[in-house]
Amino acid sequence: MVKETSIFAPCQVPDAVDILRSGKLLAFATETVYGLGADARNGDAVAKIYAAKERPFFNPLIIHVSDLALAERFGVFSDVARQLAKAFWPGPLTLVVPLRSDAGLSSLATAGLNTVAIRVPAHAGALALLTEFGGPVAAPSANPSGRISPTRVMHVLAGLGGKIDGILEGGDCVVGLESTIVFAAGEIALLRAGGLTVEDIEAVLQVPIASTEDPDTPQSPGQLSSHYAPNAVMRIDASKRQGQEIFIGFGEVAGADLSMSETGSLIEAAANLFAVLHKADAIADGRSIAVSSVPMEGLGLAINDRLKRAATDRA
Ligand code: AMP
Ligand code: MG
Repeated sequence: MVKETSIFAPCQVPDAVDILRSGKLLAFATETVYGLGADARNGDAVAKIYAAKERPFFNPLIIHVSDLALAERFGVFSDVARQLAKAFWPGPLTLVVPLRSDAGLSSLATAGLNTVAIRVPAHAGALALLTEFGGPVAAPSANPSGRISPTRVMHVLAGLGGKIDGILEGGDCVVGLESTIVFAAGEIALLRAGGLTVEDIEAVLQVPIASTEDPDTPQSPGQLSSHYAPNAVMRIDASKRQGQEIFIGFGEVAGADLSMSETGSLIEAAANLFAVLHKADAIADGRSIAVSSVPMEGLGLAINDRLKRAATDRA
């Protein structure tokens, strides 16, 4: 069924809230990427997210709330979890904490787990929406499952237009990478690199954080090896273009068609990453994409993670 997708200006938060209250789907800007939101207490509404994205049901959603006090109604926060929330919320950090028995969230949103992933986004429009709504909003990225994440309204429309009820405009996403996910329902561990660097988290914790490379570390059920994928075939760590490839550069590289950051800034590259991939895909016309290497430090960890998954064979 094709729906009419309404586009709301930032001043139309009350109209956007009406969409959520009526159990419908609303995409909204956050500082990381555009999210596809639904009332996390409403199982039917949450089911619509999975249907619109064609997302596998085993992949739980991140619950977005306006503040830590509301987050504590759904999850159990240890001292360390609270310390991280206070240091980095609002911001690009998702905390996985034990689910409260009286949380009242749809079990589809948490994929039936006894933990819940929660975050408070740092985007004025998202915060206004969440504050006015006053409840938990389940929101994965607003793109078809497995595809490139959306950092602009046009990306959301291109991927999900006609399948969702509304979009709350909020400009281009300034961080541009999904949130960093930290397991805080036991020993602290990194589940997904993202828009908050490991270095920043360790500076607060004062101890190194365990990584998902470690087999004893808990895993995120949704970390699929092929993800964030353009339609075009992609090659990473390229030093130059081969044949007809579209070449995406980082820093000073000769002959790049597009660049994540000409000055070699990881912050700029993170903000541009998905927009550049969307653009390369749009102009590929059967050609493949090659991407320069990006240093493995700071936001480079998350950028390389996304590039690796985007380049993985999709069977
Ligand atoms: P997305 O919303 O597409 O950015 O994906 C959300 C990510 O959060 C997925 O990779 C999930 O596996 C992860 N996640 C959500 N809830 C949990 C949880 N309770 N435990 C571990 N990972 C989670
Ligand atoms: Mg996603």
